[in-house]
Amino acid sequence: MKRLYLYNSLSNNLDEFRPIDESNVRMYACGPTVYSGPHVGNARPLVVFDVLFRLLSLLYPKVTYVRNITDVDDKINKRAAQRKITIRELTDEVIENFHNDLSLLNILPPTIEPRATFHIQEMIDVIQKLLDNGYAYQTAAHVLLSVKKLPNYGILSKRMLDQMIPGSRVEIGIYKRDPLDFVLWKPSRDNEPSWDSPFGPGRPGWHIECSAMSHKYLGVQFDIHAGGHDLIFPHHENEIAQNYGAFGCLMANYWIHNELVLVDNLKMSKSVGNVISISDVLQKMDGEIIRYVLLSSHYQKKLNWTDQAIHQAQQSLNKMYSALNLVTEFVETDYDESIIDALCSNLNTPLALSHLINLADEILKETDQSKINCGGSVLKKSASILGLLFRENWFKRNLELPEEKIEELIAQRNQARKAKDYKKADEIRNYLTDHHISIEDTPSGTTWKVI
Ligand SMILES: [Zn+2]
Repeated sequence: MKRLYLYNSLSNNLDEFRPIDESNVRMYACGPTVYSGPHVGNARPLVVFDVLFRLLSLLYPKVTYVRNITDVDDKINKRAAQRKITIRELTDEVIENFHNDLSLLNILPPTIEPRATFHIQEMIDVIQKLLDNGYAYQTAAHVLLSVKKLPNYGILSKRMLDQMIPGSRVEIGIYKRDPLDFVLWKPSRDNEPSWDSPFGPGRPGWHIECSAMSHKYLGVQFDIHAGGHDLIFPHHENEIAQNYGAFGCLMANYWIHNELVLVDNLKMSKSVGNVISISDVLQKMDGEIIRYVLLSSHYQKKLNWTDQAIHQAQQSLNKMYSALNLVTEFVETDYDESIIDALCSNLNTPLALSHLINLADEILKETDQSKINCGGSVLKKSASILGLLFRENWFKRNLELPEEKIEELIAQRNQARKAKDYKKADEIRNYLTDHHISIEDTPSGTTWKVI
């Protein structure tokens, strides 16, 4: 069994991964709030934790991966009102588009994808437990968690209570006994979704969702809790507080966080106008290129989304698919050890990608067909752990030149040949070859194909 090491935000250490139950590794990741589709920043954790899910599934017989959907939220209410549709119409539409985007990025569905609104009773149960255990209180139709009653609040974010400046990222409310206390249940205004509860009609706070749904599907203590770095405080800290207050444990043994995505070195924000939505990028390029870019930096480092990064990803994929195109028959092989080792070393995806490129280089230099077939099979199989090289007709899908342009160049070349300008004719042929187009002159005319 390979040893897997992951950087654990809870211990602040590179820890060896040891599951609670080797026969069923349990992992939770905070999923989307479905008021609009994902942008490249949201897509990064989805892709990174998909690789972790694939890797764990290779190392262990069973992995239960839960990724929730937040379908009750102020942003959802606002967006539905703006569009004059019901909340359910909006969330169903966004979820459907979300699933389409993810399948184009070759992100596997999680084992369970619970929706918050289908788990209100479970949330009420956890809130009731927090009240019974004396960690929560009711005031002005709200239920709040009493942060200072929890001895280990700050254990994940490593913040002392006096560093948590109320009002900056912590919601202030006049009904709070302490500014740090956070909402477990709140009353709904008119036109907002509302559920009956022992604490009065209303709706849950955001943090309680993840505690209730992870508890239902993964138990009080599970292996991995994953999410974006920006969720550490307050969201994940609050999830731990709720679980500690209700069940007396710290929820997960390993807390894994990915860094954010920059666009041309700038933080993505609506005010700068540089938010790049996945559905827009998918109009321009294959989802596999997006996936490659998102894996090209280590998940703990900021990733810079640039035209150059996209171009490099496309070139690397072209090279790998060129190598696969030489294979005449795929054979049964094992994974390339160095690629699995790179991933077991805290998900070192850039190193794993460089090993894939080396494999492709070797195949492209090889002349022995049986070695090409074997190398290509290792390449394809090893790439599958990164969720790459899954296309059947990559070059057709990713033509570097539009078809009309190819036809035009072939016509120009034929004219050049007629005029006995063989230099120009060769230049055009070389240009096409550089763009993965091979041409053949036949008695009935010139044909082309993608190579
Ligand atoms: Zn969460």
